[in-house]
Amino acid sequence: MKRRGESLENIQAHSFDVCVIGGGATGSGCALDSQLRELKTVLLEGADFASGASSAATKIIHGGVRYLEEAVKHLDPAQYAVVNRALHERIHMLHNGPFLSRPMEFLIPCAGWISVAYMGFGMKLYEWIAGKDSLLPSRFLSKTKTLERMPGLAPDHLIGSIAYADGQFDDARYNMGLINSFVEAGGEALNYAQVVGFTKDASGKLQTAEVEDQFTKQRFTVRAKRFVNATGPHADTIRSLATPGIPTRMRLSKGAHLVLPLEVFPTRDALLIPKTDDGRVLFAVPWFDRLLIGTTEQEVTIHDELYLSKDDVAYLLHHINRYFKTTIRAEQIVSGFAGARPLVSAGGSRDTKKLARDHEVEVDAQSGLISIMGGKWTTHRAMAEDTISAVQKSLGRAAIPGVTLDHPLYGSAGYAPEYWQSLMRDYKLPEQTAKHLLQKFGTNATKVLELAQDDSALAAPLVPGFAPLRAEVAYSARNEMAVTIDDVLMRRTGLQFYSWRAAISAAAATAAILAKELGWSADFGRTAAEQYREKIARLIQLAGLPAEPTAAADSK
Ligand SMILES: Cc1cc2nc3c(=O)[nH]c(=O)nc-3n(C[C@H](O)[C@H](O)[C@H](O)COP(=O)(O)OP(=O)(O)OC[C@H]3O[C@@H](n4cnc5c(N)ncnc54)[C@H](O)[C@@H]3O)c2cc1C
Repeated sequence: MKRRGESLENIQAHSFDVCVIGGGATGSGCALDSQLRELKTVLLEGADFASGASSAATKIIHGGVRYLEEAVKHLDPAQYAVVNRALHERIHMLHNGPFLSRPMEFLIPCAGWISVAYMGFGMKLYEWIAGKDSLLPSRFLSKTKTLERMPGLAPDHLIGSIAYADGQFDDARYNMGLINSFVEAGGEALNYAQVVGFTKDASGKLQTAEVEDQFTKQRFTVRAKRFVNATGPHADTIRSLATPGIPTRMRLSKGAHLVLPLEVFPTRDALLIPKTDDGRVLFAVPWFDRLLIGTTEQEVTIHDELYLSKDDVAYLLHHINRYFKTTIRAEQIVSGFAGARPLVSAGGSRDTKKLARDHEVEVDAQSGLISIMGGKWTTHRAMAEDTISAVQKSLGRAAIPGVTLDHPLYGSAGYAPEYWQSLMRDYKLPEQTAKHLLQKFGTNATKVLELAQDDSALAAPLVPGFAPLRAEVAYSARNEMAVTIDDVLMRRTGLQFYSWRAAISAAAATAAILAKELGWSADFGRTAAEQYREKIARLIQLAGLPAEPTAAADSK
């Protein structure tokens, strides 16, 4: 990918067929699909790529067990359509991003034979809907087998579990994979470029987008034949910029996760808790060597700040501790995050947990704006396909869907699951570092490692004992448009996810490398590091965690 300044110049100098607004899963998917259909495409992201809902997911590639239950119980065709679509999309997501995703088994603990029968039947139905795209057959596991695979599960009342398969993926890196692939296909992408208005032609159709550079606050104009609104939770804002007074469609539902060391519940499988007090499901998912627990559901507005709160921690621990043999305490939490699900509503006041996760493409007859609303990560490819078909139709051209069905993401070429072994051997790396680099960058890991070979200062880890290397900071700044400490630690390397406290320790080193790469003054770098540390310290405080970790919490 080009450096930010170069992309900024290119975008201003050209006009485009399609301008995609929003650089989350939906926008990145749309941009890639559009460019692959040979439409000259630009993507504008108002903050960092993947900084919205798309890096706050439970990271599951799934049809949705709860949505299937809703579909069956309430004979709801919309819920069925989501499950059906998502179950068939799983396979493409796994296939196209092999280093970023993997199939995973989920265990549903059962306390009685009625629940075995209910869950067993439900998961067979799930499998039947997936048909030839099914990942593994679901099955009953005895109590002994269940406890062998999940020794941390409370044995009382357990009679066994139902095991079924879905996928797991690295959401932030998958999003970067889509952006990188889009740019590799010839597209232009720019982060921190917020759309703040439009100009229209004589017939009232959108002609240009007014864009504000979030660093310089300077405004510039982007010209395109069609504009795609893929701003997720912000979809109504863009819709009303295009057509003031247009009725709103979005409902937002906050979901929070907490992260624990995997030692507290050692397992290679994910746990699905089938029913919380408020009638939802909850997941505990192993993620690298962490355990991710989520999620919550609370309706919010676009103005609400999203973070893991004390109440979220209390809710999640209350439910998970019913199933764990050893009680988890808040002090053991190493990090957390929250995001807003962008749900599209037909009106009415239906509870957000009952709103279908289906998507909708809206073509605004007045302005020509094409909005893609709702959906989920798992269906991002299909959503993009529908959207770009609508773009082609509105341009008076034949729609040619299917271009992304089999389009491996940047970093997949030459990938094999054991590739980390050759990284270990060729670059004399510890196993943890080799696996981390492969899982984040795919076969481009060698490009990161070449930077470390050229400058030995970049070969060191950002924080001793944690996998991410200093070279990843330089690589992200040069090749992935990372321009803040948060961009690097949260979304490029994932260190902030592994541990808030490790991320605080990494701030100064990250700032120093970014300063060199981006031409910051030493003072600017120090201030940026200080502000980042304060931000993370505040997240720790908001979650109600002690400022100092317990000995067990941050070990790695
Ligand atoms: C807690 C939670 C758990 C989830 N778990 C799963 C899961 O396990 N599996 C699954 O399939 N799905 C899951 N989802 C759903 C999935 O994450 C979302 O559906 C998906 O990420 C939405 O992507 P998006 O691109 O539409 O929105 P976003 O990722 O929010 O992207 C929208 C982007 O638009 C940008 N933007 C906004 N305004 C402007 C502007 N004016 N100019 C330019 N850019 C702008 C924003 O900065 C943002 O980056 C989960 C969601 C949440 C919140």
